[in-house]
Amino acid sequence: MERVVRIIGGGLAGCEAAWQLARRGVAVELFEMRPGRMTEAHTGGELAELVCSNSLRSLSLTAPAGLLKEEMRRLDSLVIRVAHGHRVPAGSALAVDREGFSRTLSRTVASLPQVRLIREEVKQIPAGFVIVATGPLTSPSLSRHLASLLGSDHLYFYDAISPIVTAESVNMELVFRASRYGRDPEDYLNCPLTRAQYDRFVDEVLAAEKIPTRSFERFIPFEGCMPIEEMAGRGRETLAFGPMKPVGLIDPRTGKSPYAVVQLRQENREATLYNLVGFQTKMTYPEQKRVFSLIPGLEKAEFVRLGSLHRNTFIDSPRHLLPSLQWRASPTRFFAGQITGVEGYVESAACGLIAGINAARLILELEPVVPPATTALGALLLYITDPSRKDFQPMNANFGLLPAISMPLRGRARKERMAQRALADVEVWAARLEAELGFSHSMGWSPGGS
Ligand SMILES: Cc1cc2nc3c(=O)[nH]c(=O)nc-3n(C[C@H](O)[C@H](O)[C@H](O)COP(=O)(O)OP(=O)(O)OC[C@H]3O[C@@H](n4cnc5c(N)ncnc54)[C@H](O)[C@@H]3O)c2cc1C
Repeated sequence: MERVVRIIGGGLAGCEAAWQLARRGVAVELFEMRPGRMTEAHTGGELAELVCSNSLRSLSLTAPAGLLKEEMRRLDSLVIRVAHGHRVPAGSALAVDREGFSRTLSRTVASLPQVRLIREEVKQIPAGFVIVATGPLTSPSLSRHLASLLGSDHLYFYDAISPIVTAESVNMELVFRASRYGRDPEDYLNCPLTRAQYDRFVDEVLAAEKIPTRSFERFIPFEGCMPIEEMAGRGRETLAFGPMKPVGLIDPRTGKSPYAVVQLRQENREATLYNLVGFQTKMTYPEQKRVFSLIPGLEKAEFVRLGSLHRNTFIDSPRHLLPSLQWRASPTRFFAGQITGVEGYVESAACGLIAGINAARLILELEPVVPPATTALGALLLYITDPSRKDFQPMNANFGLLPAISMPLRGRARKERMAQRALADVEVWAARLEAELGFSHSMGWSPGGS
């Protein structure tokens, strides 16, 4: 087999993968369709364009994106290096000058001797070593090809994301555990609302500030994806007959069915995370926190993911990917970035890093690897590729995915301890990888240059 890796898509994941391959001496052909063929959201021809916000989120180690970035930095991430080189003031967040960031990444990647940048749309996945990193706005031709390979039920075009809260932040004195009609097991946590609480909630949902819908997003493919505000706008009782219906649920404290309920469904095996069933929304993030805190039991809820609804191409990773990001059906082909069902710039680049490392390892005849489950990156990869997962929806890095610690700590102290454990483990892991390859960090390039 040819000893070259073909990366499809020069976004955050594709650029990071190219860098990781190049620093291991592996030849890369990087295919990017822009500027010849544009997506609905990109505006130019530079690689790694940030299509919306210029923030790569918090730098704090007690924030999941902060921990993930620090792990990536220790694995010599190009995206993180360049981001630091183009930092603009944004408090504790890593925000960047978006043009400088994309320009430096483009030039750095294109000038790597191992990388050949090819400005061309790829319509079919080639044979050999491949990384598919075409992002949430994968071109229609390639999407059709992927649907034919994976089965159209396994390729999604729309994100209808419900918020997720940590179990420890739910007030268990107000919620009750039950499944509809007393079915076993009693899997759901139910937040009961009185008529007055329901009315107030509906009023606030209707009044809340919403994110404007972009022209290419103005379609809802099926009713199951409808945002709660749209349902509320159709009639005052629509939510009470939809995702908030109380039928078959009896609150053991009153012996009666509440007027309405918000159901929380377990999100991970450890039962540290719960999602609000059917609560996709386009309310702004601050408004979601404010409005959802009106739900009994969620007054102090910690949200690890907020609701959203947007165009997003992603595959059913639990069915199709190994945690190494290899395609189960064809292990020389990898998927990376948002198309794997991770959510966010940093998470996308992090997937590129792992796919790049593992594609290089295959070529160098080494076993593919997965970061420890105790790291933000390892935990995220295990989550998105867990074959027992049904109804897969995209996910951010978050502390709820990390294994519990033995010490009885809560809040910030618990996150600090988890972050210390993650960084200690990633250091050992990174050192082992480098030792196997017999080289040390850095190709002598410094970040931020243009
Ligand atoms: C409208 C929108 C706004 C977003 N805003 C944010 C935000 O504010 N913050 C955040 O953290 N995340 C945001 N995201 C989510 C996500 O993190 C980003 O989209 C991120 O850029 C994903 O990285 P990626 O490398 O997977 O894909 P991309 O960065 O999109 O890169 C994919 C690349 O592949 C190219 N490509 C596509 N098809 C082909 C093909 N067939 N052949 C060759 N090249 C192809 C594209 O031109 C693109 O350059 C947003 C997503 C969208 C769609």
